[in-house]
Amino acid sequence: MPKWIFVTGGVLSGLGKGLVSASVSKLLQLRDQEIVPIKCDGYLNVDPGTMNPHEHGEVFVLEDGTEVDMDFGHYERFLDVEASGDWNLTSGKIFQEVIEKERRGEYLGKTVQMVPHVTDHIKDHLHRNADENGSEIVIVEIGGTVGDMENQFYLEAVRQMRNELPDSETFLIHTTLVPYLETVGEQKTKPTQHSVKELRELGLEPDMIVGRSEEELDESVSEKISLFCDVPEASVISDPNLDTIYRLPLIFDEQGVDDIVAERLGLPERKRGLGEWREKVENLQKDAVARIALCGKYTDMDDSYASIEEALNHSAVELGGSVQIEQVDTEDFTPETLEGFDGVIIPGGFGSRGVEGKIDAIKYCRENDVPILGICYGLQLMTVEIARNELGLDAASEEFDEEASDPVVKEMKSQKDVEAMGGTMRLGSYEADLKGQVKEIYGRERISERHRHRFEVNPEYEEQLQDAGLRISGRNPELGLAEFIELPHHSFFVGTQAHPEFTSGFENPNPLYLEFLRSCR
Ligand code: GLN
Repeated sequence: MPKWIFVTGGVLSGLGKGLVSASVSKLLQLRDQEIVPIKCDGYLNVDPGTMNPHEHGEVFVLEDGTEVDMDFGHYERFLDVEASGDWNLTSGKIFQEVIEKERRGEYLGKTVQMVPHVTDHIKDHLHRNADENGSEIVIVEIGGTVGDMENQFYLEAVRQMRNELPDSETFLIHTTLVPYLETVGEQKTKPTQHSVKELRELGLEPDMIVGRSEEELDESVSEKISLFCDVPEASVISDPNLDTIYRLPLIFDEQGVDDIVAERLGLPERKRGLGEWREKVENLQKDAVARIALCGKYTDMDDSYASIEEALNHSAVELGGSVQIEQVDTEDFTPETLEGFDGVIIPGGFGSRGVEGKIDAIKYCRENDVPILGICYGLQLMTVEIARNELGLDAASEEFDEEASDPVVKEMKSQKDVEAMGGTMRLGSYEADLKGQVKEIYGRERISERHRHRFEVNPEYEEQLQDAGLRISGRNPELGLAEFIELPHHSFFVGTQAHPEFTSGFENPNPLYLEFLRSCR
């Protein structure tokens, strides 16, 4: 029988419940436990693939091609696990399945209701995942905030499970905000008290309270939360602002978080420590090994390139330092923009905004031998740049100019007839056979990386591009599609149709990012 840890949130969203789940899981992993992280989201989108990343944060792609939100990035990066699309529940997905079941007549004439039918569906889903993965611990993060209409039925499912299972098999962590009020110079506990009260009204009692705050919680504040919210004082945990997300497991370790959970759930002793993890975290305090321009389109408060930034961090700590990443908006690009940078990344993207600036940035790097890594759209635009400036073609991708006489990047055949938007791109893990520099970098001929795109390098232009010096150094074995390109005489000019940032972990950096950063250094 697996043990269940539920993670809820109060007061407001964006408190980093995903990081709390990932950090607690990281600590429990030291006890050799098989952990499955599951996330339940309240929104009605079937998956976040159709949401604007500049509002909702990056869309993360799993091995199996499921589009999920950034929290899965944290789980995979912290735990070095390969998540399955089944580990993400959304209200959209649940309602779709329940309605399909109703249409098939599987409810046998019953009135289909939130309780018990929707809640049973959630519980079945959770139990099935636990069974299929042979998990010893399932950690279930309930998205949103207690009191939201859209996550109520998840909380009701949790209440039922807590009721059905013995106390020694479930644990509830409630994450709240403990704001600092400058006028009185104090951390305030009232929002936490209110959100715990709200949780209680739903029949749920927290076993641990994690207080998000600017600084560590004052002792008197922990005492107060303990008293008013009825959890032991040792189970009131500080979650202060940190220099890096990777420090959170260390902060939780200092507060004995996993001992408290382990004692209640009867888990075995730790088999390993956090020594190497700690060393890597400390590297992030050291000087930057390189200064990187991340050339994208930006809004304020932007998480749309989170995985790329993390992949660079993973590579930096492997090289013994940190990395300085600057967001460079290509909408107002001039060549001076890139002066002083050691390397440039052209990330994935969609549409026409900022494209010409990205192409100018590629030209600048190519001509000045500045290391550059092109991700997905980045590879496509590298191809356009070379076709324009080396071959003199009127080149473009069909995506931003359907009129151009030389569509060197075009929509894939398999995408032509696709009308629905959700989950219809070329998604998930695909193989590539490598040669040249990328084969050296990966140290293998056949690799696989995750994808999310509709367009490809137009095979009709490959010969001309190769004559211009571009090497197509990776191809998909089934379709022959260009997966990697490089310029052999350049210090590092590599493009990939894939998103290698999705497979990079804190303890296990992706080789392509690592070599890119090494070249930048
Ligand atoms: N917009 C491009 C395509 O669909 C690139 C997508 C991406 O960068 N993820 O092919």
